[in-house]
Amino acid sequence: MGRTGGVTVRAPAKVNLELRVGAPRADGYHELATVFHAIGLFDEVQALPADDVTLTVEGSQAELVPLDGTNLALRAAVLLADRVGVDDGVHLHVRKGIPVAGGMAGGSADAAAALVACDALWHTGLAREDLHLLAAELGSDVPFSLLGGTAIGTGRGERLTPALARGEYHWVVALADHGLSTPEVYREIDRLRAGDEVPEPEISDALMQALRAGDAPALGEALANDLQPAAFSLDPALERTLAVGYQAGALGGVVSGSGPSVVFLTTGPEHALDVAVALTASGVAAGVRRAPGPVGGARIVEPVRDR
Ligand code: ATP
Repeated sequence: MGRTGGVTVRAPAKVNLELRVGAPRADGYHELATVFHAIGLFDEVQALPADDVTLTVEGSQAELVPLDGTNLALRAAVLLADRVGVDDGVHLHVRKGIPVAGGMAGGSADAAAALVACDALWHTGLAREDLHLLAAELGSDVPFSLLGGTAIGTGRGERLTPALARGEYHWVVALADHGLSTPEVYREIDRLRAGDEVPEPEISDALMQALRAGDAPALGEALANDLQPAAFSLDPALERTLAVGYQAGALGGVVSGSGPSVVFLTTGPEHALDVAVALTASGVAAGVRRAPGPVGGARIVEPVRDR
């Protein structure tokens, strides 16, 4: 149709409804048991035909995103090209809507989106399972960014089982004006727990029952994150953020992943607005977002057009 083929893919942020962290393994990773939940904050990755593999990034925190070979979207494109033996290049344009280094898997979302976008652009036609394997090589959270919804993650978080979950939930996210380094937060939890007997990570029955029943108050009570004390230790202001959300009547609140974003569960859209206003008015958060969950994983929003 006289148009250069391009494809745009949208991928969601994640929160961890429960995150249980075991003792460090011999390979340095921690054994995890987690419940991932995709929420309606998105990054978009546009893939355009090009001779080389290049990248541009736009969005409020674009300056915090690396543009070199460490960028997860670039790494995803290079890995896919390598594995399927494609010689074509791609220009990736990333629009960030997910906070950078916020504990919401923004980089992983971009990697998942780049995999889906390049797969479509290059007509590689990989099966979903093959994309999942490539995703797991790129990072522990990337497979979930492909899948979306609500899912139980084990291993490093890359072994996924969709969770039996009902209902739509209304979240408020309090953003910080800085990131927290995921490796640093894990080092801090190891330091805080030094000498303790660390149990095998396990998801609570209370959380799984709340999800099965679609019971928002019970889910609010069951939210839990083993990394939260480490995030508080590195960033004590987060405790106040959590307290403000509870004072505003949130059903529950928890640090998302390795932080510093804090997520609150509310009873519905109006209550979400109340909690968001309270967080903004208190000045504890650098930004506040409202988002529904669960939402789907990385999806094409603008299909490849035939030339
Ligand atoms: P997670 O919860 O998956 O541990 P996060 O959400 O805390 O990660 P990200 O936004 O994924 O954090 O970014 C973590 C770091 O990854 C950033 O500080 C940045 O240096 C690097 N990074 C690499 N690629 C990207 C990308 N496409 N978008 C954002 N950050 C990226």
